[in-house]
Amino acid sequence: MKKLDQVSLSHHFADLGDAFGTPVPPSPFERPDFIHANPAVMQQLGIDPAEAANPAWAEYGCGKRLFHGSRPFAMKYTGHQFGVYNPDLGDGRALLLGELERDGTRWELHLKGAGKTPYSRFGDGRAVLRSTIREYLGGEALYGLGIPTTRALCIVGSDEPVVREKIETGAMLIRVAETHIRFGHFEYLFYTKQLEALHRLVEFTCARFLPELEGQPAAEQAEALLRFTTRRSASLVAGWQAAGFAHGVLNTDNMSIIGDTFDYGPYGFLDDYEPNFICNHSDHTGRYAFEQQPGVVLWNLNALAHAFSAFVGADTLRDCLEEFQPLLIDEYAARMRTKLGLQQVEDGDQHLCAELLQLLEQAQADYTLFFRALAHYRGERPPASLQEIVPVAQHAALEQWLNHYDQRLTHEQSDSRTRNRTMLAANPKYILRNYLAQKVIEAAEAHDFRPLQTLFGLLQAPFDEHPEHESWAAAPPPSGKHMPISCSS
Ligand code: AMP
Ligand code: MG
Ligand code: MG
Repeated sequence: MKKLDQVSLSHHFADLGDAFGTPVPPSPFERPDFIHANPAVMQQLGIDPAEAANPAWAEYGCGKRLFHGSRPFAMKYTGHQFGVYNPDLGDGRALLLGELERDGTRWELHLKGAGKTPYSRFGDGRAVLRSTIREYLGGEALYGLGIPTTRALCIVGSDEPVVREKIETGAMLIRVAETHIRFGHFEYLFYTKQLEALHRLVEFTCARFLPELEGQPAAEQAEALLRFTTRRSASLVAGWQAAGFAHGVLNTDNMSIIGDTFDYGPYGFLDDYEPNFICNHSDHTGRYAFEQQPGVVLWNLNALAHAFSAFVGADTLRDCLEEFQPLLIDEYAARMRTKLGLQQVEDGDQHLCAELLQLLEQAQADYTLFFRALAHYRGERPPASLQEIVPVAQHAALEQWLNHYDQRLTHEQSDSRTRNRTMLAANPKYILRNYLAQKVIEAAEAHDFRPLQTLFGLLQAPFDEHPEHESWAAAPPPSGKHMPISCSS
């Protein structure tokens, strides 16, 4: 395990050349304030977790000090934002520092909030503490739920004023992912007709994630990559829908080529089960509403496929994308079956699940609390703990659904004790509700980072009971539902 000053990075992406971005030095904070480092990610990277207490994070985490071999590089990409192509995107406030290899896996470090780059447009190159905390927690929350995601290594604050709707302070984090290549990287090279560079990017991405395709022609590599991304994306969105997670800004520049949850902005977890939940305050038409996500991800895959049309014929592209829907349905069904404690696969399961979701929607019942209570259910009447979550007006419908569920459970081999145990490992007690994130942010803005540490720890083990932190599992107060989460970050 390495000490911080022994970390050494390589940088294969910057080696791709000028067509892919621009080397840019970070603009560090003058007075960085070390907030937190993530021992779990340190472990993953081969850094001694005891280094989480090293005050040098304050400097590494804001670009004041660079790891050996680091070559800060702003990546160029474009993308479709709310369905409209924007040619002017790129790392406008983040820099790819380089990558670190551990047990055959390469992990890229990306410093977000590091100052202006050639792609900043009208932006200031900064990120505020509020949005940086949201990203720091978001990655850990999804990881804890077993959903692919970027994570963060450390978070650093400052007293540097940053102007948003009001004056806030700047912060930075180091994001960690196997790659930061987005759909928009391919779109950029396609729309600017840099087909040789586009080919190189396909080769580069395949070399990393589909090494068996080495030496194959462009058409085969591009097709295989599109199939890979289609499958990964289907699996990702199945995870989101089952967990009740809404990303909020599913633009193609926020879509990872390996299917990680990527770029945490105005995301939100469902409180009440509300299929048309819109977490992004600026999403006036609901393009990125919770239930729209599968369709939007497929739309984004179409945009990616269009960039691949440089190498692959239209029929083959369509064939690749056709893998999306059946995979999504299968994976979603599997995840929901697990949430319901069903090990056998039966035709009626989808209906049973749909019936429950309809009930939860009508009852405006809390999605997470309901499934957690169901994980303790043993056929008791009255089903007191479930009735607590569902208003009296829906108790008859609840009873009816439970009768169907009881009936279905008779086809299962396992006893209720075993079923409860597996369901408790699939239905979290703790999720990253917006009102909790807000509580943590407000404390952090007053320089109290203890709530951040507490919530961070709970999100890393969301299925455990943590009786001493029961209050963090509560449904939001009415004022904590539908909090308008600003897109400005
Ligand atoms: P996002 O909405 O965070 O996904 O960012 C969309 C685009 O705007 C990307 O090209 C970002 O790099 C850029 N961007 C966002 N915020 C800033 C900022 N404060 N300064 C410069 N560029 C930014
Ligand atoms: Mg983005
Ligand atoms: Mg309710």
